[in-house]
Amino acid sequence: MSERIPCINPRCRRTFADDGKSSEIICGKCFRTLPEATRKQHRRYWRKIHKWERRITRTGDELNIFRMRAVRDTLSMRLNMHWDTCIKPFFLAPEKPAGLDAFFEEVGF
Ligand SMILES: [Zn+2]
Repeated sequence: MSERIPCINPRCRRTFADDGKSSEIICGKCFRTLPEATRKQHRRYWRKIHKWERRITRTGDELNIFRMRAVRDTLSMRLNMHWDTCIKPFFLAPEKPAGLDAFFEEVGF
C-alpha cells in the first residue's frame, strides 16, 4: 500500500491516496475556509492550466505544442507560488501571534 498524503492543514486529519502527481493537498473542507479572493485566484490558475492542456492535446503542430507547454508551465509555476505564499501560510501560521499573552505568561501575570 502506498502512503497517504495528509491535508496541508495540520489541524485537519484527512488524508488522500497518493496519485503520484501532488505532494501537497488541501481537502475541500479546509479549502472553503480560505478567504474568497485566495480561492478565486487558485481556481483561476487551475482553469487556465486545464484550458492550455486541452489545447495541447488538440493541436498537432509540434512547434505550437512546444510554445503552449511553456505557457502551461509558467502557469503551474504561478499556481505553486500562490500555493506556497497564500494558501499554505494560512494554515501553517500560528493560531495566535506570540504577543501579550506569551509575555504575561512569562512574567507570571
Ligand atoms: Zn483539511
